[in-house]
Order: sequence, then structure tokens, then C-alpha cells
Amino acid sequence: MKFEDLGLSDDILKALSRKGYTKPSPIQKEAIPAVLKGRDIMAAAQTGTGKTAGFTLPILEILRKGQPAKAKQVRTLIVTPTRELAAQIQESVEAYGKHLDLTSIVVFGGVKINPQIKRLHRGADILVATPGRLLDLHQQKAVKFDDLEILVLDEADRMLDMGFIHDIRKIIYHLPSQRQNLLFSATFSNEIRKLAKSLVNDPVEISVSTRNTTADTVKQWICPVDKKQKPELLAHLIHDNQWEQVLVFSRTKHGADRLTRQLEKNQITAVAIHGNKSQGARTKALAGFKKNNVRVLVATDIAARGLDINQLPQVVNFDLPNVPEDYVHRIGRTGRAGQVGQAVSLVSADEIKQLRDIERLIGRLLERKIIDGFEPDHDVPESSLQPQKTARKPGGGNSQPNKKTNYRNRNNTNKNNKKRGGGQNTQGKKKATGTKSGSRQN
Ligand code: AMP
Repeated sequence: MKFEDLGLSDDILKALSRKGYTKPSPIQKEAIPAVLKGRDIMAAAQTGTGKTAGFTLPILEILRKGQPAKAKQVRTLIVTPTRELAAQIQESVEAYGKHLDLTSIVVFGGVKINPQIKRLHRGADILVATPGRLLDLHQQKAVKFDDLEILVLDEADRMLDMGFIHDIRKIIYHLPSQRQNLLFSATFSNEIRKLAKSLVNDPVEISVSTRNTTADTVKQWICPVDKKQKPELLAHLIHDNQWEQVLVFSRTKHGADRLTRQLEKNQITAVAIHGNKSQGARTKALAGFKKNNVRVLVATDIAARGLDINQLPQVVNFDLPNVPEDYVHRIGRTGRAGQVGQAVSLVSADEIKQLRDIERLIGRLLERKIIDGFEPDHDVPESSLQPQKTARKPGGGNSQPNKKTNYRNRNNTNKNNKKRGGGQNTQGKKKATGTKSGSRQN
């Protein structure tokens, strides 16, 4: 299947060919036609699957056929958990919509609100936002949702993990009830299902890769090593393998800062990115890493969420995440869109529980390689995919490894064709800019 077969206009196809995309990814094949038909979507898709284009492309196609946004109004709202992800979605919107006459704005916290209020004054066809700042702007009456046609909740699981559920519910409360809803989440806990139930209407359910699987294009292995040896081992691996661009995950902010200093001592340029850094510092760190000015980017899970660095070859887990799903997210940073990548985890004996949880979640044991000179004094016990016999705590959170929702057979594409809601923006109006107009086709 080609992009040409999906119902996208020439202006969008031109932008895609500029990006070098030759064929749609599986999620794009399913999502694009469904969104164009006006259907709600509930998609189990992790980063790296091309999901951003999966929702952005049909949205651009829909919006280009309607009337431009009025003052302070937005026609599409894309809500996403982190600033980095918001900025990256905005970049995608701009790249794919390069030849279209549509306006888009991105807003997130950690930077001054006034310039955002000013920009919103003219309205936007697409607003990409993090939840907290969006609510602030709405409270200050800088943005209005009367003409909202499409809502996208991206990385819904992470938004819930980050405690945004109340903000999300408040945002939804302020939206017109007639709208198209697109929900994307890497994992589907009961809480996400509850949110989905109150949000989507007869959705097309899409699951492009089985929940909690890692891409086949990622070579994964672990290095058993003593904890105190980890910084030295990492420096050794980077030098020895001549890794030139490495994303390293650290569980804590302090750990990230400390590791950066240790790498620098080993003549490896490194910079940390985490929640204690200002937005300016985070943007600068990411830009330096993308341009290969810095060899190692050390990130915490939350800061790294949504980082999209093309063809990132190497990911290292300096320590294993406590939440096994985070391993899948971390690994999603490499081997993107069919590229080959490598993910290495440095595992010390005290991390056996995390390792077992991860292996059980992804359904396979990870290959172990002990590096000469770094043989551990404290062995990492053998793991197994069998469930442990220990009793589970009742009423635990949604991060328990054994709490499985099987998405394997959820690939049901509902043929029911719900009419697009909206109804707004249908009467002929003078366009603020540009010349393209016309009412939307269902
Ligand atoms: P995402 O899952 O949206 O974070 O996208 C992952 C990466 O895949 C991004 O770098 C996109 O630019 C890239 N990408 C998205 N769609 C395609 C495609 N059809 N062909 C090649 N690369 C793509």
C-alpha cells in the first residue's frame, strides 16, 4: 500500500516524499482512512510506530477542507504529556502541513505564558498542548473550544502516570460534545479503559504491535555488572564499540547528573536532560545531541518521553526502570520506523526483580553478555519467564507486571461509519489567510 492510496491530497503527499517516507507504517495504514471517515480511534501504539503521522496526516486533510479558525478558537486539540513531545508533534504538524494553509501553535509549561496568550489571539487550526498549561490558558480565556472538531489524547497512559487525569477530565469537560476523538496509548490499563469509555464513541480499535512488545529491529542484551562498576563499564562500552550517539537512561535526576560528570571525566561528552532542568537547557541539550555535538544524552524516563531522534542507533539502560512498561518505552527510542538499533541494559544483582518483570512483560529472556574486566562479584541470578510464587499485594497499582490486558486479537476495524460530528464551521466565511476553502466531506 502507498500513501497515495490513503486519500491524502497532493500537498500532503509532497511533504511526505520530502521527508523520505516511501510507504505508510501499519498504524498509518489503519488510522489514516478511519480518521478521514470521521471515526473515533482507540489505538494501542507505542512511540516509534509512526503514530504521530498516523493522526496528524488525516487531521491536516480534514482541516484543509474546512474553514480556518476564528479568534482564540482552535479546531483540533492535541494533548500530550511532555514539553518535548509537544514540540516534536508541532514539528511534525509543520513538516507535513508545509504546503497547506493551516495554522498551528504549541503551548507547554515552564516558559512564559504571555507570548502564548498573544499567539493564541488569532486562533489556530491545530493546538498542541500539555495539560496544565492548556488549562491555565483556558482559565485566562486565551483559548476557546467552541469550534473544536477533533481531540487527540496522545500517550494517554503516560499522562495518567504523570497524574494528569484530573486535568484531562477538566479539559474534556470544556469541549463541545460533538467532536471526533482519537486516543493513543502504549499500554491499556483499567484506568485508561475507563477514560476511553467516557471519551470515544464506537471507536475503531487499532493495535499495531502487541502490547508491551519491543520492535524486532532492536537488538537487546544485558550486561550483568556490579553496581559500582557501571559508570566505568559504560565508558568502556562507548569507547570500545565506538558508539557516537548514545541515549542513556537513568532512573533518577541525581543519578543522571552524576553519570554525566563521570562520563566527562572519561573524555566522553555528555549532557543530562531531566525535570529539574529549565526548558531552555533541555532544548539546548537535545539540539546538541541531535547535531552530534554531544556524544551521550543521559535522560530520566519522563524527560525522555517522546524524544524523537532519527535513527538513534544506541540506547543504554544505566539502570533498569521500576515500571517494566518503561523498558518498552525506552527501547522504543531506537530501531524506529524499521531502522536497526541496539539496546543494552547494565544490570546489577539488586535489579533482578526489575529484570524478571521486564522479561515477563516482553515475553522473552534477554541475552546476557559479561564484559571482560567487568565480571560481577555479585551474580545476577538466572531469570525465568515463569510467574513467581510470591503472593501479590491486593489492590496494587496499574504497573504490576502480571496485570495483563491482551491486545493480541483486538485488531477489529469496525466498519460502522459514524457521521462526522462537528457541524461547526460549515457556513461560508471569509478566510483569514490563504485561498483554499470548501466544506468538509464525510
Ligand atoms: P512516532 O511513532 O510518531 O514517534 O514516529 C517515529 C519515527 O518514524 C519518526 O522519526 C517519524 O518521522 C518516522 N516515520 C513516521 N512515519 C514514517 C514512514 N511512513 N516512513 C518512514 N519513517 C516514518
